[in-house]
Amino acid sequence: MITEGKVASIEEIFMEGLRIREPQIVDALLPDLQEEVININLVQKQTDAGEKSRFKAVVAVGNRDGYIGLGSGKAKQVRTAIEKAAVNARLNVVPVRRGCGSWECGCGRPHSVQFRIEGKCGGVRIVFIPSPRGLGIVASEAAKVILGLAGVKDCWTRSYGSTRTVPSFAYAVFDALKNTYSLVTPVDWVR
Ligand SMILES: [Zn+2]
Repeated sequence: MITEGKVASIEEIFMEGLRIREPQIVDALLPDLQEEVININLVQKQTDAGEKSRFKAVVAVGNRDGYIGLGSGKAKQVRTAIEKAAVNARLNVVPVRRGCGSWECGCGRPHSVQFRIEGKCGGVRIVFIPSPRGLGIVASEAAKVILGLAGVKDCWTRSYGSTRTVPSFAYAVFDALKNTYSLVTPVDWVR
C-alpha cells in the first residue's frame, strides 16, 4: 500500500486502524527510527537432547518524536536474537501522546506526558507523572532509554513490584506509553 502511494504517513496507518505487517513499512514511514538494546538474557532449557541455551533480547525502537515500539526475540546467537527483537519492535510501533501536563510548567509544549498514566506487565507496575520542562526523566535506566526514544523529555515515574526484572519492567513502560492514547479518540492525535 505504501509503494502504491495509498499510505503516505504513519499517522494514516493508525487512523485507518491498519496493522503493521512488515517492518520495512515502519522504516519507510519513520526514517529517523533509532534502535536500543534494552536487555539480553541467556535462557536455558532442559530438553530430551540435553540442555539447550538461547539468548533472549529485548529491543526498543523510536523516532524520539512520538513513536515507540518494543519487541523481543530468541536465538542461539546474540546478534540474531537482537535482529529478531528489532523486527518485532518495529511491528509493535505505536504513537505516543505527549504534552505538558504539569501544572507547575504550563508551557504547552509536548515535552512530558499529558496526564498521569499507568502501565503493567507481569509483576511490575509503573506510573508516569507529568513534570516541568527541564527536569529530565526521573526513572531507572531502561525507562530513561525507552521514554527518550518515544520523545518524552521530562517525566516523574513511580514503579512497584519486581522492577529489577528488566524485560517485564520495559514492557510495563511500553504498556504505559500505549495507554497515553487509550483515553482519546483518533481524531485527537492527528493534531
Ligand atoms: Zn511544560
